[in-house]
Amino acid sequence: MSIIRFSAVKESFQHKPLVITENGRRSELFGTHVFNEEKMLQYLTKDAYLSVKEAIFSGSKIDRKIADQVAEAMKAWAISMGATHYTHWFQPLTGATAEKHDAFFDLLADGRAVEKFGGAQLVQQEPDASSFPSGGIRNTFEARGYTAWDPTSPAFIYGTTLCIPTIFVSYTGEALDNKAPLLRALHAVDLAATAVAKYFDKNVAKVQATLGWEQEYFLIDKALAGSRPDLVLTGRTLVGHLAAKGQQLDDHYFGVIPMRAINFMRDLEKECTRLGIPVKTRHNEVAPNQFELAPVFEEANLAVDHNLLLMDIMEKVADRHNFKVLFHEKPFSGINGSGKHNNWSLATDTGVNLLSPGSTPMKNLQFLTFFVNTIKAVDTYEELLRSSIASASNDYRLGANEAPPAIFSIFVGTQLSNVLDELEGVSQGKLSPEEKTELKLNVVGKIPEILLDNTDRNRTSPFAFTGNKFEMRGVGSKTNCAKPMTILNTIVAKQLREFKKEVDALIDKKKLKKDEAVFNVLREYIKSSKRIRFDGDGYSTDWEKEAKKRKLSNNKSTPSAIQVMTSKESLELFNGLEVMSTIEVEARQEVELETYIFQTQIEGRVFNDLVYSHIIPSAIDYQNKLIKNVLGLKEIYGAAHKKLSEGHLTLIEQIAEHMVELKKNTDDMTNARRVANKLTDLNKKAFAYCDNVRPYFDKIRYHCDKLEQLIDDQSWPLTKYRELLFIK
Ligand code: ADP
Ligand code: MG
Repeated sequence: MSIIRFSAVKESFQHKPLVITENGRRSELFGTHVFNEEKMLQYLTKDAYLSVKEAIFSGSKIDRKIADQVAEAMKAWAISMGATHYTHWFQPLTGATAEKHDAFFDLLADGRAVEKFGGAQLVQQEPDASSFPSGGIRNTFEARGYTAWDPTSPAFIYGTTLCIPTIFVSYTGEALDNKAPLLRALHAVDLAATAVAKYFDKNVAKVQATLGWEQEYFLIDKALAGSRPDLVLTGRTLVGHLAAKGQQLDDHYFGVIPMRAINFMRDLEKECTRLGIPVKTRHNEVAPNQFELAPVFEEANLAVDHNLLLMDIMEKVADRHNFKVLFHEKPFSGINGSGKHNNWSLATDTGVNLLSPGSTPMKNLQFLTFFVNTIKAVDTYEELLRSSIASASNDYRLGANEAPPAIFSIFVGTQLSNVLDELEGVSQGKLSPEEKTELKLNVVGKIPEILLDNTDRNRTSPFAFTGNKFEMRGVGSKTNCAKPMTILNTIVAKQLREFKKEVDALIDKKKLKKDEAVFNVLREYIKSSKRIRFDGDGYSTDWEKEAKKRKLSNNKSTPSAIQVMTSKESLELFNGLEVMSTIEVEARQEVELETYIFQTQIEGRVFNDLVYSHIIPSAIDYQNKLIKNVLGLKEIYGAAHKKLSEGHLTLIEQIAEHMVELKKNTDDMTNARRVANKLTDLNKKAFAYCDNVRPYFDKIRYHCDKLEQLIDDQSWPLTKYRELLFIK
């Protein structure tokens, strides 16, 4: 074992797993560090409390005087909890979160020291945030960026800092973050879904999108991860031969959670629980060292915040346990990568899940309405939905037979397919009383029984109906869920608006009864959105061919997937629903392209470093050892040495051949990078990186991994897969 690897391994063995004991119930710990309902009741006047509640419910503005009261109350609570600082916590377009702390501490004019925090500081801040990606928004307009309080996501104390969730906008009001468009999309879907839900229940006043994410991740020993330049700089291993054992025995999935991992998880869950993240499920995933954590679902904006907060907490807690947590979608070749399923539904303020069938035919018609409209929305905007999960890292995973393909389709299961097929036969216009009874009793009425039985799950589908929600499965493990959630809720909002218009027109002009009108419009949607429904094997090449016939998009790389963001239809959608202006969409596309270019460029540079400074020198060292040996044999045995050194000579040659190829491909890749870097058009540059640079990565890796197998273990400079994986 090489010296670097040896010291890394030695360091990792010095950490005895600490056993964490639990005292107290999780339910008592839940939300202790959150300025939630309970704390608001305790710390706020009635007026202030009602005002915040109203703002959460309807998005109304909070009056400055009330904001002062809320700030005073938050400060009192935060200081009683030991907080010394506050921060506006926001989500710039980097995909992560950002914060800039200010102390409550302040000096009065007379020099006395006090703790200060007022409405002004709560409501708006102007962080000097000019270095965040803005896709040109702030070059064109003003350099200033503002953060503004989002009262729908409660403030929390993290460490000794009061964190206030905020949106981040430019001086001219353009969103510079992922949260502002999400809030607008959620507002749009609330309005559209509430209007439709009122067909079935007049009492519905609000509809919330719900999100339950499932976070997959890898845990790697910190010291070992730190010994790999590729893991440190790119989050994934660029090279590394498969260990003899991978996931072929299926012995990790749902297996006994290793001691070190379970200690980490318990510590993590306690932190999460304090911060109001309702974590519930933990288990081993398919690949060695891969795990999953899932909470109880929540309102989508809060769920997004909680997922981002979770990823941050995970990194910190992992560090405490001498782990490095990997969120990259494909950290290791040859074993599964990580995703983040987004379970999504719509819920009314009357407590009804709109994607859950009920006990009466009317409730089931409501279910069908939202079910079919979602299918129709995804059919119309499949390419846009695909674009929302595109990233350089997720490209390594989508379509690799472990995650859904880049083609969007919807799985509904055979039984619901049958229901949809029957509904397709509904006659046009008015229905006879017999037809209505038949429909209500025998088709719509039977849905709940069907669903109780709906256990078949198609893991290859990117968008699957799973009984009372849809599950979006292609989302990358690193992705900010705000991106797919903004698109999904926007397209569903748009679709529900159309639906309402069509149904109302049939009621007004054709004098149809409400249920007849609903059936009529649904029938047309079922017909026109048929191509998106697919229950078969999404991994198969047959499906790829079939999808092409159906004219479904199949954008395998990020640059091609994100073109659609600025298409005429997309811009009309975003503008029409006031989710994003054209400038905001173009800015996001530009940021995505830049991020793709930079990430690929960094990987290319790390390859250079690995090949020239680590792998080739080690290969030469070992080759020299062999050469010395051959020469020694020759000295002793003279001409007779040939027979004895035959194997060595072959090895020397094999190593030489791989080195030649390695050097050639690395140099060609560097040249391709140089050519790409000269391009000024971002789109062209991204495609150049995608089509001309990235293909070299696999070739370089191939020769590196061959050399790893040929060279003696002691001389190999990089920590190997078998050392990185398989923690105890
Ligand atoms: P699995 O898919 O692993 O079998 P479940 O179907 O019970 O497990 O739930 C998976 C995830 O779906 C959980 O995170 C859960 O919170 C979420 N979920 C359940 N119901 C809803 C809903 N109505 N809206 C959004 N997410 C939901
Ligand atoms: Mg699931």
